[in-house]
Amino acid sequence: MTSIEVLISQITYMSFESLGLSEELLKAVAKQGYTEPSPIQSKCIPVVLEGKDVLASAQTGTGKTAGFTLPILQILTKGTQLRKRPIRSLMLTPTRELAAQILENVNQYSAFLDIKSTVIFGGVNQNPQVAKLRAGVDILVATPGRLLDLHNQKLLSLANVEILVLDEADRMLDMGFLRDIKRILALIPAKRQNLLFSATFSKEIKKLAQGFLDNPVMIAATPENTTTDLVKQKAYRVDKGQKTKLIIKLISEGSWSQVLVFTRTKHGANRLSEKMVKSGISAAAIHGNKSQGARTKALAGFKAGEIRVLVATDIAARGLDIPLLPHVVNFELPNISEDYVHRIGRTGRAGASGEAISLVSADEVDYVRGIERLLGEKLKTEVIEGFEPSNAPAETADKPQQKGNHFWKNKPKGKGSGNNSSSGNWNKNKRIKFKRKSN
Ligand code: AMP
Repeated sequence: MTSIEVLISQITYMSFESLGLSEELLKAVAKQGYTEPSPIQSKCIPVVLEGKDVLASAQTGTGKTAGFTLPILQILTKGTQLRKRPIRSLMLTPTRELAAQILENVNQYSAFLDIKSTVIFGGVNQNPQVAKLRAGVDILVATPGRLLDLHNQKLLSLANVEILVLDEADRMLDMGFLRDIKRILALIPAKRQNLLFSATFSKEIKKLAQGFLDNPVMIAATPENTTTDLVKQKAYRVDKGQKTKLIIKLISEGSWSQVLVFTRTKHGANRLSEKMVKSGISAAAIHGNKSQGARTKALAGFKAGEIRVLVATDIAARGLDIPLLPHVVNFELPNISEDYVHRIGRTGRAGASGEAISLVSADEVDYVRGIERLLGEKLKTEVIEGFEPSNAPAETADKPQQKGNHFWKNKPKGKGSGNNSSSGNWNKNKRIKFKRKSN
């Protein structure tokens, strides 16, 4: 460590101990290898322990799950444990993958506590889930549809819920869960603690928050709609029909080992994954039409390094917990700018740097504009030799209406980019500056 780094660590060092967590939780955190809390954890844990409502702006990858789970576990273990174990904390989340990951974290953090937790989500047989509920759980992680379904069948009660977490609230609204959420809110006691986490804050989210949060403490891990400096963003201009060839070249020549690729449609995800496999790159597609088993298998293979490329749609990829992902590629840009922020949030996580590449065809220029407006900065663009877009407006660049249209002006670049990833820890986050949206 240089003397400056020592100085920085002395100034900003905060420990899990100083957040007021119990011995059992400190032990569990140490077992996970966490040496210090992430920024959202430092802010969130003391506030939740005080029993306050929280409205937090945090993307996946910030450590938010521990930010709400650790203090909830502490609160739940303080009171006397009822023999029948009614559900005392409900964690609502949009996708089955995310739900399963939250439960995994809850189990890790409660390893030394007398706490029982389970998860319920749709698309699979309900019986094993019901059996676990019957045995009694303190914490229930759930997707809204299955929760209401089992409640309607009188297979669970929410009458004893003390702490409610809405995780990835923006995505829940995007997926049309607003009515379900309202129904669920009506089923739990009015007097409770509420924690709402969202990566972005639309008008709808603010309205939802106002509707049920009580004087919440506002917490931001990353300012609204921002991307971290650790994510190197780059766009390559290319013809639509050349994208597959280009992505295969980038992955092979850059020797990228773990790549998450986004397509706009399920069909597109399947097609691209098949083409990758044909060209000798191990790949799998993950989207809503795939069975739970197929999704879990693909994700496990990807995490284990057996599958090099995971091709996903936005909804399927939401909440995937893949630590230290070095490369994210937007094979197609999302038509909702906020999704770009979510997508590139899959890289540069937990203090590691990463690269987010977008392949942009002429019909997607408007999406680039939207993304740039949201980020408050221009995307760096390049052209790869041999992949020059056919309608590259060398001839249009001088036209008055093209002024300021930087997007089609850059010169071709010789080589694809290499692997820029490096590993790190939360300590490095102290030196991350977040770019705030400028408008
Ligand atoms: P999350 O944003 O909750 O999905 O967490 C992202 C990743 O960071 C997960 O793989 C966690 O296990 C990991 N993580 C959470 N807290 C810490 C911490 N304090 N130090 C290092 N890694 C952490």
